[in-house]
Amino acid sequence: MNPPDISLPPAFLQRLTAILSPENYAQFLRVFNSERLTSFRINTLKISPDAVLGKLDLDVTPIDWCQNAYYVPTAQKRLLTQTSYFSEGEIYIQNASSLFASLALDPNPGEEILDLAAAPGGKTLHIADLMHNQGRIAAIEPVRDRFFKLRSNINLAGANIVATYCKDGSALWRVVPARFDRVLLDAPCSAEARFDPKDPKSFAFWSEKKILEMNRKQKKLIYSAIKCLKPGGSLIYCTCSYAPEENEAIIQYALDKFGKSIEVQPLAIPFDNYQTGLTHWHKEVFDESLVNTIRIIPNELMAGFYIAKLRVIPA
Ligand code: SAM
Repeated sequence: MNPPDISLPPAFLQRLTAILSPENYAQFLRVFNSERLTSFRINTLKISPDAVLGKLDLDVTPIDWCQNAYYVPTAQKRLLTQTSYFSEGEIYIQNASSLFASLALDPNPGEEILDLAAAPGGKTLHIADLMHNQGRIAAIEPVRDRFFKLRSNINLAGANIVATYCKDGSALWRVVPARFDRVLLDAPCSAEARFDPKDPKSFAFWSEKKILEMNRKQKKLIYSAIKCLKPGGSLIYCTCSYAPEENEAIIQYALDKFGKSIEVQPLAIPFDNYQTGLTHWHKEVFDESLVNTIRIIPNELMAGFYIAKLRVIPA
């Protein structure tokens, strides 16, 4: 298989050949230079899907596994962002992989949810919509300009069950232990799955050192996320990285720390472009239950992503 006609770091590609199956690696290379469809979600907290769809003069296709979410050709993305629906927070452009993460969290109206790494808020808003604005969401973001963007997106979308906190998520467990029904940890990561051939800066600073730096941060965050869960509560851990050090190794770290009090749960997956989690990487061997986690393989519809679901087993 020929590498893509841009200079992705050779060490990154080499690692990817060990992470992905040969077919999935070939798919990664095939879609890297091609344009993905644009996906968006209609915010039913503000407007009904019929009111938007009746007026949008675009080639809209529903995403069959996500209510109120649609694809448009990428050439029409600009037209979409020029509508008042977009500027009024009635639609939100979001990758389909990210839509799946909020669905996998499976939030219910009335629950108390923690979004531990929330800005700019795409998943927070989707969760608020799934909860019909009933219950409570605590959304955490420590980086100030990102925090203000989060706040403005939440206000614009009318997601009034969200309380925002400009705080470090890794310290939160000391303040609100065993409090939440569900936690989403969409962790800061090396963003390998967001490398963009039109923006070489997106991969210019990739390094294994950066992956290990993220690994240290992610361990602190997942520890905090699990401590914040009630018995019986569940966690979605996800990243837009392919690196096992940021994915399976973090789940293994949680299993080592919390032992039999947590379990990795299977995900109900409504598409077939994924690979199950690895059970070993280099010299590290992971628990068999890591096959319940998934790595979404990028295609014309979705970006790459890793998702794991954990549950705190009631005593
Ligand atoms: N969930 C967001 C969404 O769907 O719009 C995207 C989250 S992004 C992948 C990860 C976020 O984690 C970034 O905004 C980053 O600033 C934030 N972050 C970095 N360090 C953090 C920490 N210690 N605690 C909480 N969030 C952190």
